[in-house]
Amino acid sequence: MLVKPMGRGYQTNCYLLTSDDKTIIIDPGIEATQWVIQNAKNPIAILNTHGHFDHTYDDALLQRALKIPVYIRSEDSFMLDSDRYDPNREPCKADVCVSDEELIELEGFRFRFRHFAGHTPGCSMIEFEDRIFSGDFIFDDTIGRYDFPASSPRDMKRSLERFMSLYADDNRPLYPGHGKPTDIQNARKFLPAFIDALRFY
Ligand SMILES: [Zn+2]
Repeated sequence: MLVKPMGRGYQTNCYLLTSDDKTIIIDPGIEATQWVIQNAKNPIAILNTHGHFDHTYDDALLQRALKIPVYIRSEDSFMLDSDRYDPNREPCKADVCVSDEELIELEGFRFRFRHFAGHTPGCSMIEFEDRIFSGDFIFDDTIGRYDFPASSPRDMKRSLERFMSLYADDNRPLYPGHGKPTDIQNARKFLPAFIDALRFY
């Protein structure tokens, strides 16, 4: 797996996950295109953890250049058309709007979009058998912001509680949208304090 922080100070991690000589691109942020084209062996799909522009900025360019589909949860697909924080981004239309958590099988890859709303309505962790891409839901020592226009503190609280019950006996690594990797058991240590801080929602 390759990772590179992208774009204009946002330092959004773009991941290239390769298996059997095929590559999945996760969150191609600002100016990711050249690096992706140079480094992705046989790219087959673009997956977005959520719709914020710093994670999806180069979706349209790569979708066109590589002729591969863009996946995002249906609740965030509206953000690909317009993001008030960056009007210069080329709009993109998702090819696959994921609306459930069923296992997706794609050319040897198996993954699902686990829905953890809060940071955005369709914020997801993209879960593979041996690793999870946690987007802006969970970082190595904190959680994602829930004060953006489409955020919901109430949903964030529910999502954190769901994380705690869903992954009780799991210790897969978590690869966040910004910063260093962590793992589920480390996140389980600091999440209760955040759930407590959200207790009035
Ligand atoms: Zn975000």
